Amino acid sequence: MTYLDYAATGPLLPEAIAAMREAEQKFFANASALHTPGHLAMNKIEETRELLAELINADPEEIIFTSGASESNNTVIRTFEGHEIITSPLEHHSVIEAAKALKGKKKPTLYSYMFANNEIGEFLPLKDIAKKAHENGDFIHSDLTQALGKIPLDVKALDLDYATFSAHKVGGPVGVGALYIRKGAPFKPLIIGGNQEKHRRGTTYNTPGIAGFGAALKYLKDHKTWEIYDTKVRELRDELAKRILAEIPGSSLNTELGREKSLPNILNASFEAAEGESIQLYLDAEGIVVSTGSACASGDIKPSHVLMAKTGDAEVAHSSIRFSFSPDNSMEDVEKVMAKLPGIIDRLQKISTIERKTK
Ligand code: PMP
Repeated sequence: MTYLDYAATGPLLPEAIAAMREAEQKFFANASALHTPGHLAMNKIEETRELLAELINADPEEIIFTSGASESNNTVIRTFEGHEIITSPLEHHSVIEAAKALKGKKKPTLYSYMFANNEIGEFLPLKDIAKKAHENGDFIHSDLTQALGKIPLDVKALDLDYATFSAHKVGGPVGVGALYIRKGAPFKPLIIGGNQEKHRRGTTYNTPGIAGFGAALKYLKDHKTWEIYDTKVRELRDELAKRILAEIPGSSLNTELGREKSLPNILNASFEAAEGESIQLYLDAEGIVVSTGSACASGDIKPSHVLMAKTGDAEVAHSSIRFSFSPDNSMEDVEKVMAKLPGIIDRLQKISTIERKTK
């Protein structure tokens, strides 16, 4: 199989599997308990907290663990319930929908702007937004789910009040995430009724999950994965982009390439008069796994809000495919895609009732 859907999720790193197994066997006790097994479990959790803090330049006390990026996003938005909440049009649904449901008119305002988008990989002007927010006494949250491990991160340099992370986008388990809360920033727990996380999130600690996240973070740190993404992964992504444009009539890119423009691992492309879902299924039949828009939103027949915001064209949005790479991919994967994709697009364009504009 040629797997090119790493931005949705990827396999657990062997290191994460080993850490989770060890935690299940050795660190199973309630991490809040005062007894020795409880302390041992808590030590594992603190190891992960310290690793994440080091990777993003935060203080360990500024980090809590959650069930994933969706919960982290919801927690921040709910803290600002009734306040003005301004989000970019490219945010994940867990920001957009929460903001729609909870926003009001009170000041201070919360800005929620991701650093890098999950569907097209492009960067947003986060530093400018943070500056503007702080000049007005407002607050800034950033969903850094897609950025972690792919580029160096520093929450202090970015001047963030809150930041969201997810373990399963970096080789850790699904169902574990984290939230950075700058010391002194307003905070309201989403889950009350437990003194865990210093009263910031109730429920018994998920020690195996957090240990798995820790092993993945250690992998990022030890391998400086952002350097591998910047070189090897970028080369694969850019080569695929170049070949798509050169070899497939009616193709266009929805991702601007370049170090200043986008993450190195994501390429979103559109193919005139060929439907994204059909392309995905034909590629799947050839053992090539990609996604259309965001996997979280598929099953939804509406065009992706991100592609609509980026292109303003429903046809372009409907004909888009996201290829997302990891260091486990190779040029052979690019070759495999280019051996199959042109024929698939040609076949779909021939049976399409949509007129091609660039014919
Ligand atoms: N934010 C972004 C930018 C994402 O890409 C995703 C996953 N698609 C999420 C949030 C949700 O992550 P989780 O599955 O950990 O809730």
